[in-house]
Amino acid sequence: MDHDGVDAVLFDLDGVITPTAEKHMEAWNRMFSAYFDARAIDPYSDSDYFRFIDGKPRLEGIASMLAARGLTLPEGSDDDEAGPDADTVHGLGTRKNVIFRELLDEGIEAYPGSVAYLDALDAAGIASCVVSSSKNAEAVLTAAGLRDRFDVIVDGVVAAAEGIPGKPKPDTYLRGAELLGVPADRCVVIEDAVSGVQAGAAGGFARVVGVDRGAGREALLAEGADLVVVDLSELIPGFTEARR
Ligand SMILES: [Mg+2]
Repeated sequence: MDHDGVDAVLFDLDGVITPTAEKHMEAWNRMFSAYFDARAIDPYSDSDYFRFIDGKPRLEGIASMLAARGLTLPEGSDDDEAGPDADTVHGLGTRKNVIFRELLDEGIEAYPGSVAYLDALDAAGIASCVVSSSKNAEAVLTAAGLRDRFDVIVDGVVAAAEGIPGKPKPDTYLRGAELLGVPADRCVVIEDAVSGVQAGAAGGFARVVGVDRGAGREALLAEGADLVVVDLSELIPGFTEARR
């Protein structure tokens, strides 16, 4: 990709820099397997993940999964004293997140092509930041050994604290650009999710790059990606030519 006129690259995290989806799937599996086994009801399987959980907000996914097994729980709240032990929808969500954090502690390997692209950006003095909906972004970056690569992180924690609307609205990406001190029209957005590509397309950025990790090339182009790659290393050749 041509990097002329580009001063910063704004990265989504999960699915762009790290293969985080596998860890989430594993955490859901461990949490629901234990819960269902203890109640002697139909065991959980990864097909349940794709049917009831994938792509939904956490609490909605839990409620759908429970309903599929004929269970209903009170919603509860994150302030429940019982925390992950609460027999509520929030309690199960907290339990899943505790397991996810434990899995992260085992480490996660970033996509090598993404690290190579980050190296190339650093070498050319192009700034980068992470813009993620996740409240686990710092933990994921730390587990991948990449936390010190980013001065600016706009994640779910920052968005909640500052009251910034999430993707598909462009606001979190615009906040990232603002914190870097780079105008939006000199920033590239890199995203693997349809909602994130929509956010990039709505923000007036120089370019939106879609990364096809399963969403589909045509879908990403249709939602506003200017180009679609399967690996971020594909962005490097044009980059070195443009800057040479
Ligand atoms: Mg993503």
